Amino acid sequence: MNFKQAIQVTIFASCFLSYRILSSFLNQYSTTLSLSQLQPSPTIKPPTKSSTTPKPVINNTPKSFQQITLLFDNREEVYKRIKPKTVALTFDDGPDIYTEKILNAFLEHNKKHNLSNKRAAKATFFVIGKRITNYTCRVIERIYKEGHEIGNHTYSHLRFNQISPQRQREEISEAEKAIKKCNSYIQVRWFRPPYGLYDISTINLIKEKKLHIALWTIDTNDWRKSVSFDAIIQSVINTSGQDVVLMHDGREINMDKPHEDLSLVRDNTVNALPTILERLSQKNIEITTLSEAFGLSQ
Ligand SMILES: [Zn+2]
Repeated sequence: MNFKQAIQVTIFASCFLSYRILSSFLNQYSTTLSLSQLQPSPTIKPPTKSSTTPKPVINNTPKSFQQITLLFDNREEVYKRIKPKTVALTFDDGPDIYTEKILNAFLEHNKKHNLSNKRAAKATFFVIGKRITNYTCRVIERIYKEGHEIGNHTYSHLRFNQISPQRQREEISEAEKAIKKCNSYIQVRWFRPPYGLYDISTINLIKEKKLHIALWTIDTNDWRKSVSFDAIIQSVINTSGQDVVLMHDGREINMDKPHEDLSLVRDNTVNALPTILERLSQKNIEITTLSEAFGLSQ
């Protein structure tokens, strides 16, 4: 091999070596590219809001029942819970011949002031189960459909501090059944013992039944024959709100030992109502159901 041939061999060898190196590099690059297309390399993602913020806790357990217990000895507690500038008018012992007259007074007041739905004046009717018949179911339906609330006032209006716990249970259950028989959609949330009389088993029983108990903060004494139409008005209109008012659309059902001052008519209540509604509205006091007054969802 002469010098010229040696140079040619060296050049050839260099070219071959360069080709192999280049070829090897291209092969490696090609493999990396295809792998990267099939298997994306793991990337570090920037922290997102959801990974740094605790997940909201979804609470599937039912909200525990917090009983409202409006009794005469815990009024201060009630005043903390009832909405300001609100009065709950309540009517006991119906349905009776006066109930529709009371409903008409609310309709007329709301029409006169152009109040509808949420803004309409409303009341709570504590009904007696025994008074609910096929005929008076129509009145129960009216109370419900016109946006008022219906409460349980027992089946036969007995003195709860004088009857057994079992009898108390039956009195509450039978009244609820009578209401639901008229309309199964009616939700009964409130209980009022007749004459405001109860014992410890009454309190335990209504808690078990998840009912709230409401006596009253203003007694109009409209059931007394000695109380005038004007006295009923005066007993209510001085309120500045946060009161539960006791009135009666029904007459006494148990006439075995009638109170000596017992009135057998409810005309005074019916006649006083338009003025009461008017005067409370003038004071910008909301007239509403117990559930709305205490902020319970409807
Ligand atoms: Zn009563």
